[in-house]
Amino acid sequence: MADLPFLPYGRQNIDEDDIAAVVQVLRSDYLTTGPASAQFDEKLAQAVGAKHAIGCANGTAALHMAALALALGPGDCVIVPAITFTATANAARFVGAQVEFADVDPHNGLMRVEDARAAITRAQSKGWKVRALFPVHLAGQVCDMAGLAQLAREHDLTIVEDACHAIGGIFDGHRVGDGTFSAMAVFSFHPVKTVAMGEGGAVVTNDDALAQKLRDLRSHGITRDAARFRRPDLAFDADGKTNPWHYEMLDLGFNYRLSDIACALGLSQLTKLPAFVARRARLVARYDRLLAPLAPLLFPTNRQPRQNPGWHLYVALVDFPALGRSRTQLMESLRARGVGTQVHYIPVPHQPYYVDLYGRPDLPGTEAYFQHCLSLPLYPGLSDDDQDRVVDALFQELRP
Ligand SMILES: *Cc1c(COP(=O)(O)O)cnc(C)c1O
Repeated sequence: MADLPFLPYGRQNIDEDDIAAVVQVLRSDYLTTGPASAQFDEKLAQAVGAKHAIGCANGTAALHMAALALALGPGDCVIVPAITFTATANAARFVGAQVEFADVDPHNGLMRVEDARAAITRAQSKGWKVRALFPVHLAGQVCDMAGLAQLAREHDLTIVEDACHAIGGIFDGHRVGDGTFSAMAVFSFHPVKTVAMGEGGAVVTNDDALAQKLRDLRSHGITRDAARFRRPDLAFDADGKTNPWHYEMLDLGFNYRLSDIACALGLSQLTKLPAFVARRARLVARYDRLLAPLAPLLFPTNRQPRQNPGWHLYVALVDFPALGRSRTQLMESLRARGVGTQVHYIPVPHQPYYVDLYGRPDLPGTEAYFQHCLSLPLYPGLSDDDQDRVVDALFQELRP
């Protein structure tokens, strides 16, 4: 067993054609802002069924741009589930907005409609103006977007889906990111996510005005579009011709662009998205079947109705007190058997930065989920044999 490879909880799947695509860009004239960048935006929009995709440096930058595009700021509040990666909440803080953490379903970590509604009430009682919901499709399962969209209409809120886990998923017949239930959706292309670019992210939207804002924010707030110039005295020469060197910075923006090197990898990876999603779904079904005898010590998460998830994580819920061992003890024993596991996530309101800001909220669903969750290896390169090793290791540890 010692010479079998270690199985991490997640990893990228890079083939020779991905490598060839990157090398081709390296030999080309443009390492950034070239044809691969434009093509990546176009192909990503097609892949998720959105009108616009704005590729950017990473998922965190995408969330930041979404918050800026909505003009969120001090006095405003965003509802964020307590179980997510810190970046979802941080995006609100980047622009000076408050975060109200919503509780989650203890059985799968997803923010329910009633969780969001309770968080709205709490935020309002603090005098904050609730302006947006940032639901997180944890592990790839999609929140009840029809229900959240209804709640958002009742309270005049904008929805930004943090879909970093969920590319390739389908809810109620709609692809995640197609804009049916939200103003914007955000993706990450970090190597553990389903599509890998090293670092990368995107915002997708069907709204032309938001798309223009997002493109401006991605690149310094600068435009070369003559129709938008506000300094005709500088833009045009005496004959009324546009000065070829002219550009205008219309607003404060960032350099959140993607390189063409990353976009070449992303384009190549996107062609495999259906295969990645199918392989992940097969592995999830196989875990469900093979691990079923470990109940009630170990359960899969509750499944959301009306969807085919684009799975990112396989989260098992383990009853550690009944097992008589801590999560750390189990993780170390599995590691010794060559199996990597992880915890997704430490509740964001537990982070010292947020405790200093808001104290410790009482979120029972969040605490219950956090006490039980353990992510098992899940990635397209995990073979059935590898998965059998994970299952064997769990049987040996849980049913010695
Ligand atoms: C990965 C992730 C992010 C941030 O993406 P980066 O590309 O790492 O910046 C945000 N939200 C969630 C839920 C994520 O999993």
